[in-house]
Amino acid sequence: MITKSQLAIKLSKLEVFGASDVSLEQYSTDAEVAAESLWTAYMNKDIEGKTIADLGAGTGILGIAALELGAEFVYFVEIDEKAIQMLKNNLKEYEKSRYKIVNNDIDVFNQKVDTVIMNPPFGTKEKYADRMFLLKAYIIAKRIYTFHKTTTAQFIERFSIANGFRLKQKIDFAFPLKMTQEFHKSRIKRIEASLFLLASN
Ligand code: SAH
Repeated sequence: MITKSQLAIKLSKLEVFGASDVSLEQYSTDAEVAAESLWTAYMNKDIEGKTIADLGAGTGILGIAALELGAEFVYFVEIDEKAIQMLKNNLKEYEKSRYKIVNNDIDVFNQKVDTVIMNPPFGTKEKYADRMFLLKAYIIAKRIYTFHKTTTAQFIERFSIANGFRLKQKIDFAFPLKMTQEFHKSRIKRIEASLFLLASN
């Protein structure tokens, strides 16, 4: 069985976004943050032997962490072709029978799963993008691990309650964003982001 630090090292070797599409808000989750988060989900018994959906999978770091931790099956749902190419490279070493790549909008993905893991667009560029992801997650899963800006915690909790979910756990991170986009000035910026565990009532 892989350890948490081995998982972080493994994830740090994946191909991630370079110069990316601003409107889709493509940021790769940091390897340490992904390892810590998926480890938490694993300890909560939401990964091993489970069917998982990684919504807005990007280059796949979250879903791949789930595969490493014994997920039975992972759906990688991603709209962007360029991300899909990197995702395919990252998935080369994994059994094809354990995952499916869905190159489409999350809007048209309707597969019921045990657990959703996602780092959705924070909705800073495209308003309400995060809400669309949450609404989809509430429909397809009973357990949701999702990243959002820490400042939006109250909204996330209220929105979840209104949709039959409770906030069960919240882990705060200083999210390192590698500055790959032209309008960014400093190379590494940190934003306060949290992992939220939302569970169906
Ligand atoms: N989960 C990855 C990527 C996060 S960035 C990681 O943690 O590293 C968010 C991703 O959502 C981007 O890859 C973007 O292309 C994708 N995305 C944005 N809107 C989408 C939509 N409507 N349907 C599917 N994917 C979408």
